[in-house]
Amino acid sequence: MKATLLTLFSFVLFLYSCGQNSSHSSTSEKTFNTAEPSLQLSPAEWKSRLTPTQYFVLREKGTEKPFSGEFVFTKEKGTYKCGACGEPLFTHEMKFESHCGWPSFDKEIAGRKIIQTEDNSNGMKRVEITCAKCGGHLGHIFDDGPTETGKRYCVNSASLSFEPLEKSKDKVSSQTITLAGGCFWCIEAIFEELKGVEKVVSGYSGGATLNPTYAEVCSGNTGHAESVQITYNPKILSLEQLLEVFFSLHDPTSLNRQGADVGTQYRSAIFYQNEEQKKTAEKVIAILNANKAFERPIVTEVTAYSHFYSAENYHQEYYALNKEQPYCKVVIKPKMDKLHKLFAEKLKK
Ligand SMILES: [Zn+2]
Repeated sequence: MKATLLTLFSFVLFLYSCGQNSSHSSTSEKTFNTAEPSLQLSPAEWKSRLTPTQYFVLREKGTEKPFSGEFVFTKEKGTYKCGACGEPLFTHEMKFESHCGWPSFDKEIAGRKIIQTEDNSNGMKRVEITCAKCGGHLGHIFDDGPTETGKRYCVNSASLSFEPLEKSKDKVSSQTITLAGGCFWCIEAIFEELKGVEKVVSGYSGGATLNPTYAEVCSGNTGHAESVQITYNPKILSLEQLLEVFFSLHDPTSLNRQGADVGTQYRSAIFYQNEEQKKTAEKVIAILNANKAFERPIVTEVTAYSHFYSAENYHQEYYALNKEQPYCKVVIKPKMDKLHKLFAEKLKK
């Protein structure tokens, strides 16, 4: 009986594994990539963002039942994005009807957004495809596509989200970057006032401790820096302009220290979320150093973003709500005055 069950189970797995056998596995031009995803969250964080089906498929490499997903037959014009991180992966022009039961595409959006990995699970030789940004499981790729590319990206609907063309035409997608430059009360207050900034959250980033408290971060033992996560519209405020303000309003040459605030939790850091942000940050720093904008070299750390933990509620909009507090008067107010003087044309009011 056990053997029968096992056989049945293997058969079901076979059926639910994009319905392909080894004779159709992808064998040519594999571009295997071992780079780590830039967006890494804990299982608990993914669970809080994804539905149980999405979590099963994207994070546990599950496969949805054939013909069960919402995008199997869709023909609407638009962009198919990673269901976990929102990275654009395919467009409607790349989609074709494969009759296999899963959404199928004959190519991917350029830019190495998809990683291919050998997958010998369930007794099959296949090539798994995952999202390069978050590592989310998408499905498999096969060499039996009917179009000129010869490829068939067999993708779970649960791994995708869809943005219709009409909406994507008007919408400028916001970007997020995480910066550290000393006490987050200061940095948050500064960026809240800039045109093009949609949201600023104070928190902790760059360390190893899960869900750190303010007291733990202040101890200097968590590895986290007091940080702000900034959501901005790059059509209104470019990252270069945003970093110009950042470098003008803290001391990026002072290692693990801003004024009287001393410790790695007060270090200067840019936690980038994609290669473009990394290149921009490095370029801005190189230009400032080359122009000797500061007396000493910039020590700002440029590191891949991993986690951001929002700080306790009372730290949010701290300056706006506590202007009479001595630290705000002595430390933050002069910085705000400098902001108003140097960047008047970039401010919301
Ligand atoms: Zn992703």
